[in-house]
Amino acid sequence: MKKVYFVEMKPKTEQIVKIHKTMGVCRYVYNLYLSKNKEVYENENRFMSGYEFSKWLNNVHTKQQDQWIKEVSSKAVKKSIMNAEKAFKNFFKGKSGFPQYKKKKNEDVKCYFPKNNKTDWTIERHRIKIPTLGWIRLKEYGYIPKNAVVKSGTVSKRAGRYFVSVLCEVEEEKPAIQLHNTGLGIDLGIKEFSVCSDGRVYKNINKTQKVRRLEKRLRREQRSLSRKYEHLRKRGENPATKEANIDKNIFRVQKLHARLANIRLEYVKSIVNDVVKTKPRYVAIEDLNVKGMMKNRHLSKAIARQCFYTFKKWLIYQCKKYDIEVRIVDRYYPSSKICSCCGQVKKDLKLSERIYRCDGCGHTMDRDFNAAINLLHAKDYVVLT
Ligand SMILES: [Zn+2]
Repeated sequence: MKKVYFVEMKPKTEQIVKIHKTMGVCRYVYNLYLSKNKEVYENENRFMSGYEFSKWLNNVHTKQQDQWIKEVSSKAVKKSIMNAEKAFKNFFKGKSGFPQYKKKKNEDVKCYFPKNNKTDWTIERHRIKIPTLGWIRLKEYGYIPKNAVVKSGTVSKRAGRYFVSVLCEVEEEKPAIQLHNTGLGIDLGIKEFSVCSDGRVYKNINKTQKVRRLEKRLRREQRSLSRKYEHLRKRGENPATKEANIDKNIFRVQKLHARLANIRLEYVKSIVNDVVKTKPRYVAIEDLNVKGMMKNRHLSKAIARQCFYTFKKWLIYQCKKYDIEVRIVDRYYPSSKICSCCGQVKKDLKLSERIYRCDGCGHTMDRDFNAAINLLHAKDYVVLT
């Protein structure tokens, strides 16, 4: 079984320099592949594959300019070309938008290091040996099992902190637990994060004071940052030649983003762990059309903050571990419109009606709870394997 471990590291100054250099080169090559492809498309009306670009980069481009590309791990460079090619392919398949240029401030570049030598990716309790970077201390001791066989790993940076994520091959050990006979329907929403068919309600964490305060601080920092950019522009200076104050402001924004992301991730994970602990035979959730919902301008922000996609991913991962069946109920199944008591469908249910009242049998119930029960009994679903 493959498993991914994600830990914070404490690299030394010279290692940080190396990491930054690799990230810079990877970002540069990614962007170069994008612009080269635009050029090839305009001139020859065809797509340039990652392999072809890589050949051109090695045999033509770096012979004439940008020799410094050669100074970092060639595997990391190759991986970033592959990532760019994948972004194009996803775009061709209609899965995502046109590939975007990577920007330094977005911190979305990872350095990839495969295992080349025998001692690469050796793990000890407190440190890890990364190819070309050497031993780096870990912040969490003993989290990655010492006997794990690492295939490859990536190094990333977020808000001034450094992380390593390693892909390991570990021996499968299915915890022997007895599942209950009943399933669990989960209705996801914006008012509450989720309402389960067993009556559990998980509140929306974005409505808590802690998150609200952080978001307010983030908005303030973002405003002050854009004001600083505006001043520079008015004075006719190039925002790229930033001043120390702007750098500090960018850092504060990044830090707040990272903190909010962390809080949300931990919350989503804790809900999944809670659900799995009830040992249902199966869980049934809606096939969320997140992309479609995001088109609704009024709701898009609230939906994005709920991290439903992460929730689904983590739920599937955890359920697989315990052999719990995951049912994805058909997108057009009217889970909130059906009466969970007699089965009658209420066609004109408004979003504002928080209490479901059945015209047929007079059954009255909380809207989301009713939907969760319907999901539990839904017959139109696919099982994820
Ligand atoms: Zn009814």
